Amino acid sequence: MQTQIKTITAESIAEAKNLIFSGGVVAIPTETVYGLGGNAFDDQAVQKIFEVKGRPNDNPLIAHVHSDYDLSKIIDYDPPYAKKLREAFLPGPLTLVYPSTGKVSKYVSCGLNTLAIRVPAHEGAQALLRALDIPMVAPSANLSKHVSPTSAEHVYDDFEGKIPLILDGGACEGGIESTVCDVTGDIPVILRPGLITREMIAKVVGACGEYTPDFQSGEKVKSPGVLYKHYSPRCQTRLFTANELERAVAECVKEKLAGKRVAALCEEQFVMLFEQSGVETLNLGRTESEMAARLYELLRKAEKVCDVLITIEPTEKSGVMVGVLNRLRKACTSSDIKH
Ligand code: AMP
Ligand code: MG
Repeated sequence: MQTQIKTITAESIAEAKNLIFSGGVVAIPTETVYGLGGNAFDDQAVQKIFEVKGRPNDNPLIAHVHSDYDLSKIIDYDPPYAKKLREAFLPGPLTLVYPSTGKVSKYVSCGLNTLAIRVPAHEGAQALLRALDIPMVAPSANLSKHVSPTSAEHVYDDFEGKIPLILDGGACEGGIESTVCDVTGDIPVILRPGLITREMIAKVVGACGEYTPDFQSGEKVKSPGVLYKHYSPRCQTRLFTANELERAVAECVKEKLAGKRVAALCEEQFVMLFEQSGVETLNLGRTESEMAARLYELLRKAEKVCDVLITIEPTEKSGVMVGVLNRLRKACTSSDIKH
């Protein structure tokens, strides 16, 4: 199969629509990362997405809809606070997990009785969703465990020859995946941190919890995606805190002397320190939005230019950085299951 990359026009949207209605999978841009889109009502299309990504079959998918889609078709209960969240943040990078009517393919939620729904703000994604007027599942368009894609080229690198079409909407502005928030209980609970922060949600509805899986208790994990090693570049990675900078520099120098290609991925304030020791750097930037937007681009660059990537945890650990740190730590774990 030849994989075509096309800019977003009325024709390419019509082509994507035809492919999706005939059971195909198409890569699409969103404001967070690129997604692999398929018809959420079509069992075979949903299964194909799991297959092409190599995604574990207990990691449910998010259904994407346009901003005027009638949610009552697919959700069973809509608490009043969820409406407030939609009004405040949608369209945008917030996924809400509702009790499901079970109308979409049973493969979407992997046996859970809930359905995750997102309304992307990206104009190209909205145009396609309006043309489809059905929910479209769209997990991040990367091979499972690999770094998420923030450009059409990233998608091509992972899926050349495996999908027919990539809609090219340029570089994603947000850079990390949506916040996933459970709205099935009395208050919203964040299952995966992202660009819409716990503080932002609590400000709108008064309270917001954060889910941390208790692996010891044997409880069924609420959002299976949180378990996996993920977002990982194909080079060795090591993660240091900002208190361990000297050790990190020494590690870079040692690896270089051993003939390895090494780079340090760090926020801007530490760049000089590495460069003074002759270590190449990948600069995450200064602000939280810069760091979120650059993270995956730099992890994908790292695997092309490094044998060993030394990463330094950014010093700010609240707000959007909760999401950035979550991705960075998973990218740098060596274990397959992150406890
Ligand atoms: P991705 O689309 O690859 O960014 O991953 C989707 C994320 O949403 C994963 O972390 C999933 O575990 C999570 N997710 C999707 N559907 C549900 C659901 N029904 N309940 C809880 N988490 C979900
Ligand atoms: Mg993903």
